[in-house]
Amino acid sequence: MRVETIEPDDGDGAKRSPIAAVGGVHGDEPCGVRAIDRFLETDLRDRIRRPVKLIVANEAALAAGDRFLESDLNRSFPGDPNGDAHEERLAHDLLREIEDCFTLGFHATVSDDRPFGTLADPTPRKARVMRALPLDHAADFTGVVEGRSVTLPGFVNVEAGYQGSDAAADNAFDCLVAFLRATDALPGDVTPSPTGHFRVRETIEKPPGRSYRVHVENFERVPAGTTYATVDDRELRAAEPFRPVLLSADGHDTLLGYAADRVGQL
Ligand SMILES: [Zn+2]
Repeated sequence: MRVETIEPDDGDGAKRSPIAAVGGVHGDEPCGVRAIDRFLETDLRDRIRRPVKLIVANEAALAAGDRFLESDLNRSFPGDPNGDAHEERLAHDLLREIEDCFTLGFHATVSDDRPFGTLADPTPRKARVMRALPLDHAADFTGVVEGRSVTLPGFVNVEAGYQGSDAAADNAFDCLVAFLRATDALPGDVTPSPTGHFRVRETIEKPPGRSYRVHVENFERVPAGTTYATVDDRELRAAEPFRPVLLSADGHDTLLGYAADRVGQL
C-alpha cells in the first residue's frame, strides 16, 4: 500500500480532520491510481488546505493486473492483521489508515461507461459529496451488502467508467478534484447537481449457463415482463419493474448485477 500524505502549510488547516482518496482497491481497475498520480503531478497539490491522504491500496494486485491476489479486498473488511490472505491483512491496514478520514474510493466496471456513485447509509455529508461529483446517479447499497468499503462509515465510492479506459481515468481525476473541493480540501467552486438516488433492493443471481447477454441499460426503468437478459437460449424476464445497477454479462461469477428502485434525489 502506498500512502501519500499532503499536509497544508498553515497551522489551522493542518489541525483539521483528514480526507482520503483510495485507488487500486481492485488491481484490474487502474483509474483511481492514474487520477491520484496525475493529481500529484499538478500544482493543485500545493493548494491543499487540510490534510489529505492519497492511497494506492493493492499494489501487488495492480502489478499483476488482477482484481486481487488471494481474496477480494473490497469484500474483506474489517480485515485481519494475522489473516492468511494478502487482502485480509491489507484490509486491516487500509482501515487503520482511513479510520479518521472521510474517504472516496475509486472503482471501474464492465457494465457502464458513465460514472456513478455508490454509497450506503446516506448522511447529509455523503449526499452533499455525491451532488458535488460529476455524476448523475448514485446506487445505495444500504442493508444489501456487508464487509465492503461502501458500508464503512464516512466512505463513498465512484464507479468511474469502463475498466482500463482512458475515460475512466479522466472521470476519476475530475471526481477527485470535485471531492477535494466539496470537502474544502481545495479552494474552488463546486457546482452541485441533483444526483438520482437508486436504492438497491436485491441481487440478481447468475443462473448456470455458457453465454450471457444483457438487453437493458443500467439505471433505466425496466418494465415488468421485459426480457432483461438471456442465458444461452433462455430469456430472463422481469417479474416486476426495476432499475438495473451494475448489470453485466461478464462482471462477476455468480451475480448478473443488482435490482434497484429510484427513490428520488440525493
Ligand atoms: Zn472495483
